Amino acid sequence: MQIFSQTKALVQKEKYYTLKILANLKFIEKDKLYADLKYPSLFKYIVKELGYTDAEASIRVNAVRLMLKSKKAAKKITDGEISLTNACLANKAIKNIKDKSLVEKIIVNASNTSTRKFKDYIQTNIKKERKEILLLDEHTLKQMDRLKEKYGDDLTSYELIKILLEKELKAPAEMRRVRKISKPEAKTIPRFVKRKVYTGECANCKAKYNLEYDHKVKRSHGGVNLASNIQILCRNCNQRKEIMGRQTNLFT
Ligand SMILES: [Zn+2]
Repeated sequence: MQIFSQTKALVQKEKYYTLKILANLKFIEKDKLYADLKYPSLFKYIVKELGYTDAEASIRVNAVRLMLKSKKAAKKITDGEISLTNACLANKAIKNIKDKSLVEKIIVNASNTSTRKFKDYIQTNIKKERKEILLLDEHTLKQMDRLKEKYGDDLTSYELIKILLEKELKAPAEMRRVRKISKPEAKTIPRFVKRKVYTGECANCKAKYNLEYDHKVKRSHGGVNLASNIQILCRNCNQRKEIMGRQTNLFT
């Protein structure tokens, strides 16, 4: 029947045009040509100028990005071996992967396969970083405000949660390059604070060995675990501070 041959012919044309459009989009993205029409991104251009839906635009943007990242993938897409949806999934999957051979593998697995099978492959083979978004209610936020008075007003909720978690779990907090931390209270300095203050040398004599984290204002005197109150001292200077600090505010 004529309707079958006609439909088949139309589908072939549709595929041809889809790829043609994709090739054009690749050029437009590569040289950011959408900016000529005052669009901030390829996505906006595709939606506003070409009339695709957000979902259709997202698939095309991801496919184009994959083509620009990998010539091999670009050829496979052009040859019809990788479908648009698989190209989109592949691009999302390789986003944070630096291992080139794994990227190659993903592209090969995206080829000549159904979207369902490719999704299965990604889920079982590609480890994703776990992330969770928290919604905090008013009561919890108020409690956190009270804790911020204790740990520092400039802390974000995220930093505060990290401090509390480390405290609760008593994580082994010493940094790799700092060999010895003799003061017991140093153990509760959050890691992100340590990272922030670590200079690799004694703040007093510039020695690079036997470094310790020191509370400028001792914790027993109300000193907090904030970067502004932590410094790196060598053991000698720290001990001298300990002894002399009883009379003066040396080194702070
Ligand atoms: Zn020193």
